[in-house]
Amino acid sequence: MPYLSCVSCSKKIELGPQSRCECGEPLEVHYECLKPPARIAEEANFIIRNMNIFPLTKLKPELSLGEGSTPLLSANYLKDEIGLKEFYLKNETVNPTWSFKDRGTSLGIQAAIKFDFQCIGTVSSGNMAASISAYASKAGLAAYVFVQDNIPEEKLRSIAIYGVSLYRGVGDYSELYNNALTLGEEHNIFFVSSDNPFRVEGQKTIAYEIFDQLNYESLDFIIMPVSSGGNMAAVIKACEEMEAMCLIKRAPIVIGVQAAGCSPIATAVAIGKNKIEHFGQPNTVAFAISNPYPPSGNRVLNKVKEGRASVVSISEKEILTAQLELARKEGLFVQPAGAISVAAARRLMSTGILKPEHKVAAILTGGGLKDTNILTTHSLEIGTVPVNKLELVLR
Ligand SMILES: *Cc1c(COP(=O)(O)O)cnc(C)c1O
Ligand SMILES: [Zn+2]
Repeated sequence: MPYLSCVSCSKKIELGPQSRCECGEPLEVHYECLKPPARIAEEANFIIRNMNIFPLTKLKPELSLGEGSTPLLSANYLKDEIGLKEFYLKNETVNPTWSFKDRGTSLGIQAAIKFDFQCIGTVSSGNMAASISAYASKAGLAAYVFVQDNIPEEKLRSIAIYGVSLYRGVGDYSELYNNALTLGEEHNIFFVSSDNPFRVEGQKTIAYEIFDQLNYESLDFIIMPVSSGGNMAAVIKACEEMEAMCLIKRAPIVIGVQAAGCSPIATAVAIGKNKIEHFGQPNTVAFAISNPYPPSGNRVLNKVKEGRASVVSISEKEILTAQLELARKEGLFVQPAGAISVAAARRLMSTGILKPEHKVAAILTGGGLKDTNILTTHSLEIGTVPVNKLELVLR
């Protein structure tokens, strides 16, 4: 039987709705025996395909919105431009609510139903809120969604459309996360925030899929944005599981990327701290990764110490350049938080961490249309011409 275990003090508890250990650190799922998932080509439904790597049985595949099986594209332009032999882009922007969050939500909803909750909740900077709201609608659960006070107005409306109970939480984001957990216990709301153990199990499918798409051949690095640390912990966990099952020979190094304007984990790595510290006031265009006190930050730091991961930070200019490059050279419109992986690949090549012979995959975590406000920061040329004088344009 799968069980929960604390990532820090290793305390074991029975599988259930509890998401954090008494010591304050996250719980994660462990399996006594794990079998590989079905191949993407064999099974289209996300829930059925991944049954073997999920901790719950008798799931409801009909509640899937079609998450997962996203393309792994060869970055034909960027691989030459950056100087890598092989460079792949995992395009998570094509998920049902346009971010990778749908993978974790899909299993989170199943867990809520399994544990007999009628209400589901989340604390989010936007993308998770939209994801939880959509899946709650599909499953007929009531949803309580708390977002940061400074969330862009356009994001707010794209969550409210699902008809959930939506609140702006005024104050510190990490405080909001902890208070929501207490609220959930008091009012029987299953809070599936960033690093909930079932979310993590759902999100680990990104790494399983990358390897499925590469025919389980070796990969040197996976580069991905990191905010709360939940998704990065999930990708590392998947790689460890695949290694343990001998599906892959050797796990890739996972490189997490933060914006310099909100980099609590990268800062702790750079100065060799054992615990992350609250970053202060975030200031970055990569709004989706602006958590100043990540709930899975220490967990990611431990993986860095084990040699499985690293975390770096990237400037605003590098992020925006990568967003433009992805759209103009690879045809992919991603939000700044997603583009940061590509910005990091370029930087890591110039600092010698990536070498030309390395095989690298970058995760593009969310779609560009989620956040159109920031497009005003690019100088985009748009012409005007009288319709009867179109030929003038080409002269
Ligand atoms: C949530 C999110 C992230 C960060 O994931 P964490 O699990 O919080 O570290 C990165 N990119 C996008 C687009 C997101 O929505
Ligand atoms: Zn513990």
